[in-house]
Order: sequence, then C-alpha cells, then structure tokens
Amino acid sequence: MTAPFLSLAQIRNRLILTARTVLRQHRPGPDGHCPTCRTPACRVGTAARDLLRAAGDPPLPGTATDPPSSDVAQPE
Ligand SMILES: [Zn+2]
Repeated sequence: MTAPFLSLAQIRNRLILTARTVLRQHRPGPDGHCPTCRTPACRVGTAARDLLRAAGDPPLPGTATDPPSSDVAQPE
C-alpha cells in the first residue's frame, strides 16, 4: 500500500489520520488509564498528540490532556 509519489499534503493527511486512529485507541478512560496499554501516562497516546500538534491539527475533543490552544486559525 506504499505509494511512492505522494505530495507533502498527502503525507501530512495520512500521518494525521493514523495519529487520530491511534489516539482513539489510546484515549484515557475515566480513571485516566489507557485502555490499551493500561498505564496512567500512555506514551503512544502522547506521541500521537504530539504528532497532531506538530502537524497543526488539534487533537479531537476528549483526547487531549491539556486545554486546546486558542491560537489555531479557524476557517471562515
Ligand atoms: Zn496506550
């Protein structure tokens, strides 16, 4: 499934989709523990959040451990 000639936008979109999927699977439960890793500080979820932040795509609501930044440009 590896496409040899992807644009930067396509690569970015695939990274974001993958990170969102990972974040969904490693979303902390009510007790703050990751249901997949069963740890309080899931490194996989943190890495996915960092990737989304670096890509300029804010994490989905309920998956972030800190409040969303208000400096993200909103389309009008
Ligand atoms: Zn996890």
